[in-house]
Amino acid sequence: MTQSRTHIQEARAGRRAVAGTAAGAMLIAGTLVGLGTGAAEADPRYPDKTPTSIGYGGAVSSVDPEASKVGLDVLKRGGNATDAAVATAAALGVTEPYSAGLGGGGYFVHYDASSGEVETIDGRETAPMAMPNDAFIDQSTGEPFNFTPELVTSGVSVGVPGTPATWESALEQWGTYSLAKALKPASKLASRGFVVDETFRQQTLDNQERFEAYTTTPKLFLPGGDAPDVGSVFKNPALAKTYRMLGRTGMEAFYTGPIADEIADLVQNPPKSPTTDLPVPAGYMETSDLADYEALIQDPTHISYRGYDVYGMAPSSSGGSTVGESLNILEGYDVGSMDDGAALHHYLEASALSFADRGAYLGDSAYVDVPLDDLLSDEFAAERACTIDEQTAAEKPVAPGDVDNYDGECNATDRSGSLDEDTENRSTTNLTVADRWGNVVEYTLTIEQTGGSGMLVPGRGFLLNNELTDFSTVYEPGDPNRIAGGKRPRSSMAPTLVLQEGQPFLALGTPGGSTIITTVSQMIFNRIDRSMTLPEAIAAPRASQRNTPEVTAEPEFIDRYGALLAPFGHDLAASGDQFTSAAEIGAATAIEFGPNGLLTAVSEPTRRGGGSALVVHPTQILPMPKGGVDTGVTKDSKAEHR
Ligand code: GLU
Repeated sequence: MTQSRTHIQEARAGRRAVAGTAAGAMLIAGTLVGLGTGAAEADPRYPDKTPTSIGYGGAVSSVDPEASKVGLDVLKRGGNATDAAVATAAALGVTEPYSAGLGGGGYFVHYDASSGEVETIDGRETAPMAMPNDAFIDQSTGEPFNFTPELVTSGVSVGVPGTPATWESALEQWGTYSLAKALKPASKLASRGFVVDETFRQQTLDNQERFEAYTTTPKLFLPGGDAPDVGSVFKNPALAKTYRMLGRTGMEAFYTGPIADEIADLVQNPPKSPTTDLPVPAGYMETSDLADYEALIQDPTHISYRGYDVYGMAPSSSGGSTVGESLNILEGYDVGSMDDGAALHHYLEASALSFADRGAYLGDSAYVDVPLDDLLSDEFAAERACTIDEQTAAEKPVAPGDVDNYDGECNATDRSGSLDEDTENRSTTNLTVADRWGNVVEYTLTIEQTGGSGMLVPGRGFLLNNELTDFSTVYEPGDPNRIAGGKRPRSSMAPTLVLQEGQPFLALGTPGGSTIITTVSQMIFNRIDRSMTLPEAIAAPRASQRNTPEVTAEPEFIDRYGALLAPFGHDLAASGDQFTSAAEIGAATAIEFGPNGLLTAVSEPTRRGGGSALVVHPTQILPMPKGGVDTGVTKDSKAEHR
């Protein structure tokens, strides 16, 4: 690991002063060698999905059975949680290439069992220094580009990837494996291939128009003009080679070597297909932007909630502060003693209030003054809670609070509210790891949209992100999330650790764009306030109130709770409405820590095709919980952790 890829939080200011030199980027001849897939005959490999495993000695939970198996093997061979997390993430870059990989970014939360310390890595993508703040306006029309598929399928949406620096930094800080050793299983997986499932085929088909906007991407993901068949084996020899090369050279080769040249050139000159109708706007990335990239080691956010300590991601993510504020507001109410309707009413109202504050105050703290202490203070939460009517949902959008004028009493200065413009249909992935020594990693990583920018780095086997579309598309005065060169777009990613008396109780996270925040809050609320076991808390139907007139909710949530919430005035959007992204919200992974080292590793039973949670020494492997059915899984530990 080179120190230049990692800086502590205070180093942020320095990023602003760095100026890039001219790129002179050149696509290196011969990078197309190794492109291609093998849609050979099916091979069973490790397709079995296990939503819940209970046992001892370490655990891995991810959305993918191959990736979880890679992480479990690392733990079995003596690797620690960080070694396994990096190996699992690299494997997800193979099996979930539309959600995560070398071309993206993410947030890594680490609990160190020997010191009891929680630290985080902000591996968020950065905007190129030369990017103007009107970059998302189509200069030919003066109007903003349509968000999808136009803006996301572009060079202008690509941020400088942070994932390679995150992996290297994590291994350097907390790992025992070399980068080469951590990447080796994923490299092997990319070579031998994985069995295509329906989710992978469908995600490919959903991206067909975007992938075909480029001359390059279809060669890997649409061989013969079609998505790989379900049951075929998808190989990515180019990615295998890239992992092997980076293992040998270190990530410096990514940020300053030929790969950096190739990325800058692709962003400035996207290989646009002559037959596409999409505009594919070019971006501003230069090789100096890649050379200057830093993964930031920084303190987590922290709140206490009903006797637990909840740690999350500080800005550039809004995850930790918004989950934290939402829980702080809820803490003012004894929701555990309420009936379902009243408890969910409070959950939804607390969420709307915290989203109003997210919109007003959250952005990259290297560029805007984020009042984190205020937003996470009990007084501020108490004052925000004053606006909750116990019988009636507030009209949305609600106004943000005033961080300059609060005292915990019900006298907040009113400000007008505005809708959060966050878009849906984003994709990401999440993993949770614990090792035999008690170290824990919660890691959310992404390339933003499913399929990212749609732009493959030819001969390297990975897609570039479209993370910069997390900036506001159109500027509103005072917007903390305006585009600026070198800035990190505001994220919602919320990898979260919950401790009790200094010991891990729960580690959890999920993808889902801004619904990440509500899903993490809802899972904690389900587990701690609503007496659900962890598998139930994850399987339970979800609803997401992000300060919009309608609540986004899964169909089962509407069926079960719609009638109970109607008297409060909550408008649960029907599927297909503007604020309902899909039938599913999120794809979580989590581990609960019980007495005497007992681990309950949980992944989604059904969402996004279901995930895979594995423990080193299993004592019990549970079938899928049916939503709301008490599996009895963690009864004992639940009682202990109430
Ligand atoms: N880019 C999003 C964020 O950082 C995550 C996208 C997703 O979860 O699907 O908030």
